[in-house]
Amino acid sequence: MSNAIVVLNAGSSSIKFSLFVERGKSLETDVRGQVEGLYTTARFVSKASDGTVKAEKSWPEGIKLGHDGALDHLVDHLRAELAGDRLIGIGHRVVHGGRLYRQPVRVDGKVLKVLETFVPLAPLHQPHNLAPIRRALERAPELPQVVCFDTSFHRTQPDVAQMFALPDDLREAGVMRYGFHGLSYEYIASILPEIDPEAAKGRTVVLHLGNGASMCAIEDGRSLASTMGFTAVEGLPMGTRSGSLDPGVILYLMDQLKMDTQAIEKLIYSQSGLLGVSGISSDMRTLLESEAPPAKLAVDLFCYRIRRELGSLAAALGGLDAMVFTAGIGENAPEIRSRVCRDAAWLGVDIDEAANAAGRGRISKESSRVAVWVISTNEELMIARHTRRLLETTQGGRK
Ligand code: AMP
Repeated sequence: MSNAIVVLNAGSSSIKFSLFVERGKSLETDVRGQVEGLYTTARFVSKASDGTVKAEKSWPEGIKLGHDGALDHLVDHLRAELAGDRLIGIGHRVVHGGRLYRQPVRVDGKVLKVLETFVPLAPLHQPHNLAPIRRALERAPELPQVVCFDTSFHRTQPDVAQMFALPDDLREAGVMRYGFHGLSYEYIASILPEIDPEAAKGRTVVLHLGNGASMCAIEDGRSLASTMGFTAVEGLPMGTRSGSLDPGVILYLMDQLKMDTQAIEKLIYSQSGLLGVSGISSDMRTLLESEAPPAKLAVDLFCYRIRRELGSLAAALGGLDAMVFTAGIGENAPEIRSRVCRDAAWLGVDIDEAANAAGRGRISKESSRVAVWVISTNEELMIARHTRRLLETTQGGRK
């Protein structure tokens, strides 16, 4: 009988899950999948690690499955999947840990209440992240649950990197730069010592370029600066998010164009970025295949902002020893990596175009002063590892 951990990542319309089983010292994914289309037409799929479908189900249109119903279905499915293995805990991805949580934490009713106070900081994500925790506490209060935050990894940043130049009482009220994608950066920082020990000790910029996109300056495994701040909108343009805006733009939209909070939220989260600029798609693949000038402009802007942020993060680090590309675009778009690297030649980056086209591992020339890597991120594994560690060390956990 092996120990097993379920990792959940709950969003507004889906719950993604991965089941990890302990094999020796490592944690391996047995099945993963999701329930998507919550509150509309829900579908469930579960796949083995080789991609074969193990189970699937669709709910009729009239049945609006919500987070609780989805979790109940997942629990029943995972119980059957576990066979002889023992479920020792659930690990959750939660976007916001506020200033309080610098590390993952075991969650009970009290901690859940604290996490609810962070909802105003991430209203689009936090309530959905918390829904399955609440349900699991009701259904199986004895089962340990651990929450891992997208913000925690950045709490090592110096004060100046976490501040806005606003009056201090606002910082006290929580208006500060939190940073996000922390579990992805933490995973990369955790495996970099095996891949490139020198880079792991040195000054690295990790580029998490997915539908959400950000960059992080890491020195000796610790976050020093990041492009995302108070919310996951700051920094780079993304699939549908605007990235950094002059705050005066928001005032103009309110005062002159009479847009209310909801309309502005929709604009900067869902209608901007690659989609807004191109008017075609938020999907980088579609834009790279398109001949249309607005598609090219959107890609140009994406690369231009990366170029500028890279300079800024290299300045925060006082130099650059390595770069790591990760997430959907970072792992799969050699055209974008090539452009970013050519733009960074002034920093000592010399890309090996053949290695870049091949796609994995080191993509810079041996002679390049800055080593450039493509590394697949694995936020779920990071959560599973945290969950196991915390259950091993906390009272009432696994002995
Ligand atoms: P993620 O949020 O990490 O899943 O990344 C999603 C983004 O990765 C989308 O913009 C996709 O278009 C992009 N992506 C995935 N595969 C490719 C590819 N082969 N070439 C370019 N972009 C890709």
